[in-house]
Amino acid sequence: EAVVNRIAAGEVIQRPVSAVKELLENSIDADSSSISVLVKDGGLKLIQVSDDGHGIRYEDLPILCERHTTSKLSKFEDLLSIKSMGFRGEALASMTYVGHVTVTTITKGQLHGYRATYKDGVMEHEPKACAAVKGTQIMIENLFYNMSARRKTLQNSADDYPKIVDLICRFAIHHISVNFSCRKHGAARADVHSVATSSRLDAIRSVYGVSVAQNLMEVEVSEDDPSSSIFEMDGFISNSNYIAKKITMVLFINDRLVECGALKRAIEIVYAATLPKASKPFIYMSIKLPPEHIDVNVHPTKREVSLLNQEVIIEKIQSAIESKLRNSND
Ligand code: ADP
Ligand code: MG
Repeated sequence: EAVVNRIAAGEVIQRPVSAVKELLENSIDADSSSISVLVKDGGLKLIQVSDDGHGIRYEDLPILCERHTTSKLSKFEDLLSIKSMGFRGEALASMTYVGHVTVTTITKGQLHGYRATYKDGVMEHEPKACAAVKGTQIMIENLFYNMSARRKTLQNSADDYPKIVDLICRFAIHHISVNFSCRKHGAARADVHSVATSSRLDAIRSVYGVSVAQNLMEVEVSEDDPSSSIFEMDGFISNSNYIAKKITMVLFINDRLVECGALKRAIEIVYAATLPKASKPFIYMSIKLPPEHIDVNVHPTKREVSLLNQEVIIEKIQSAIESKLRNSND
């Protein structure tokens, strides 16, 4: 059974950056206002995510890393969003099957925190009292220590640190009221350091730089027609002065970072037709739609999603972008 669990866990946590994504989402779900990430050896030696969120209650620690343990199952809408986002209560459990997990946490009003370690879905011993300030720190050490082929493949390829930095940049321009930082173990400076703001453009400027931010335009779509599609989109898209070697597409659907290949290609087509010289755009886009409109047929642990009424949605977004680009070009 341990082997089966490990294989399943290795599907959920495919590489260091997938663990970081799960930990960031948990920190955001815990209403954190600051999240910092520390990475050693591309995440294979250490991934540490510290937040100042609401913490984990002492009585929840023993079952925290059992599969299907989740505190996010209270409402009916949650049931729908579980379906839409694939899985619930699998991430932390999975990490304990493929790495050494240490959780340090303190909840509001407590004088001290607790630290617990987990292996193969089980807490190793009683939580130990310890000093803690606010929130939760989760450490994953020696990821894939028990999956030698996976570890070798990862060690032989370029390490995940740039992917982790890229991921945090994406989170930082969506969750703009949260401070994010990311640092390599031993480095004096953080590679990402975003400060909470109320302006999306400020966030993009601080994360991606002035050269990106000064060439962006805001674009919005709001559709409320039950017979065709219900969705809202708002985003920032680059203009004709933004020239890059490849497209940057940061897409959040219902506040979850996802990929949608069909939408990405559709946007590239509009740029190629309208601004051939700037055909590799920078796109930040946030789409909100009823959770039941996200298709569940896609593999749950993949980021790729497809949407109900996808063609209609894509067409509306394409025409909004096209008219923005034409207006700016006149
Ligand atoms: P899910 O997020 O789908 O509920 P996870 O395995 O990612 O499942 O996490 C399990 C549970 O652990 C969460 O439901 C939450 O209650 C708790 N948890 C995990 N990380 C944190 C955190 N940083 N702060 C507070 N609670 C957390
Ligand atoms: Mg989670």
